[in-house]
Amino acid sequence: MKPDTPHHPAPADAAARKAVPPVVCYPVESLPQPDLAALQAARAGWRKTAEVLVPPRDARCFTVPAGHFLRITSVGGPQVGDLNLWNAADLSERFYSGKTRALHGTHLSTGDRMWSSFPTLRPLATITDDSLDWYGFDAFGLSVHDVIGTRCDPYTNTLLTGGQYHHCCHSNLTRALAAATGLPLHQAETHVHDVLNVFMCTGFSRQTGQYLMKASPVRPGDYLEFFAEIDLLGGLSACPGGDCSSEHSSDTAACHPLRIEVFAPQSPPAGWVSPQRNSYDRSHGSR
Ligand SMILES: [Zn+2]
Repeated sequence: MKPDTPHHPAPADAAARKAVPPVVCYPVESLPQPDLAALQAARAGWRKTAEVLVPPRDARCFTVPAGHFLRITSVGGPQVGDLNLWNAADLSERFYSGKTRALHGTHLSTGDRMWSSFPTLRPLATITDDSLDWYGFDAFGLSVHDVIGTRCDPYTNTLLTGGQYHHCCHSNLTRALAAATGLPLHQAETHVHDVLNVFMCTGFSRQTGQYLMKASPVRPGDYLEFFAEIDLLGGLSACPGGDCSSEHSSDTAACHPLRIEVFAPQSPPAGWVSPQRNSYDRSHGSR
């Protein structure tokens, strides 16, 4: 609520209206559930097939074959990462932060899935381990690994400060995707999308609704681990905000690299099949 509001008097039954209890927007009991135990069991004896170090204030792209695992690990010091995921064969199918938020809530952890955009709307990846799951929600209502932020970007920075800063996560991901695909820079930019804020500690103010962040509780060795449900192209930016305790969109914060590792299981998880595209018929009432 803005400081100079409200402009209108409350009606007589205002208290009763405000006292109506909310319900969960998307009851997820009918959501297809991953067999988490089978996915986690498939890690036994896995073999590392790739490792990429993302430099501070920069991004790298990487591929994860369907049925393989991806780990993002903090190295060197507290650092936030901005993650994009695409279908490796079709960049138009990409991570849908907003719908993932609607289904799983503001922050993701073990068992939650990263859903893809319309019209596919299927799990791109399932989170199989999170060394920060002990954090839960703190006294300020903040938690880690959010899908409420977007990504730091040079346009908002210019809007707010008038400055030109070129190592925001949006630009880092744009350069990395252009390098990985050969697409021209501005074409690659159109595929960069709202992220999973790996290790970032965020929430909303109960008073003003504003987006809040604080120093990430991540420490070297902490990790977030995913199972790739389809062939993935990923992009990870080591945010110029570092642990995101004060500001991003500058070279002020202490920044550290992030390690990406890809692991191949000895055999696919028991019973696992790569998810099909969403089965809505797409007629949209036109017939
Ligand atoms: Zn960032």
